[in-house]
Amino acid sequence: MREESWHPVPGVDYPRTLVEFEEWFSSEEACLQFLCRLRWRYGFRCPGCGGEKAWPTIRGELRCAACQRQTSPTSGTIFQGTTKPLRLWFRAMWHITNQKFGANALGLQRTLGFGSYQTAWVWLQKLRRAMVRSGREKLSGLVEVDETYVGGLEEGVSGRHTEKKTIVAIAVEIHVPRGFGRVRLGHVPDVSAQSLLQFVQEAVEPGSVVHTDGWKGYDDLHKWGYVRKKTVLSSSPEPAHVVMPGVHRIAALLKRWLLGTHQGAVSARHLDYYLDEYTFRFNRRTSRSRGLLFYRLLDQAVHTDPSSYGKIIGGKPLPPQV
Ligand SMILES: [Zn+2]
Repeated sequence: MREESWHPVPGVDYPRTLVEFEEWFSSEEACLQFLCRLRWRYGFRCPGCGGEKAWPTIRGELRCAACQRQTSPTSGTIFQGTTKPLRLWFRAMWHITNQKFGANALGLQRTLGFGSYQTAWVWLQKLRRAMVRSGREKLSGLVEVDETYVGGLEEGVSGRHTEKKTIVAIAVEIHVPRGFGRVRLGHVPDVSAQSLLQFVQEAVEPGSVVHTDGWKGYDDLHKWGYVRKKTVLSSSPEPAHVVMPGVHRIAALLKRWLLGTHQGAVSARHLDYYLDEYTFRFNRRTSRSRGLLFYRLLDQAVHTDPSSYGKIIGGKPLPPQV
């Protein structure tokens, strides 16, 4: 089991600066070793026989001492089957985690010197997928929940803009007396009770106090073990951003980020990936160390299932260059 409470040491577990990064990961072998260390933090385990002893082969795989089965350190990770060197992947991750406002495909393409914009785009989607791992801890305590409409999203690829708005559900922990904790975002099809309750169940620990507005979609929260705190905005003397400051702040930041970093050119179909990146960044916003962000991303990347190119683009052509 991996836990964020496990504190890696700067300069020992992850590089602190670009100079250190380049020293640490100057060869393919060094990258592979680092990857193995993260993947088998609690020791190697052969997927065939459960053996705990293995030897490296010339091809960079591990051969089980008991059953001779060879295991590639990248199999079962987002790097599985890649034809590009790990050094390049590490660079991509360093680049992405060093962009204060998030990376876009064009920036990544330039940094890595890719001939193809599409390759950079697919890499970004793979890495975004690794940013939010499944089975993560749910929010707890006092949590504000609301929805926001993300507009002007580009639908599909033909460059055709639609007026269709996309609904994003927001949950954010509120610290008393001030400040925000972690955030969860979800792309919901509508604002029905079914959609919203499903989002809350995925995002918030039962027993938490869920602060919402008067929308009836939240009426059944208590049936699922939540304590609902309801503020009917129309009857409140205070404006919405005062009564529910968390969700309003997150909604504003999210929209600005989508417009700024991605020029709003985010297709509704891929919105989940962008929400994942936003969540990853927001929940680690107090981490001043870029090296630690890099480390967290790599750690999650080696524990994220590979996603094929076809699965990522959904069998449809790629978006236009932005
Ligand atoms: Zn074995």
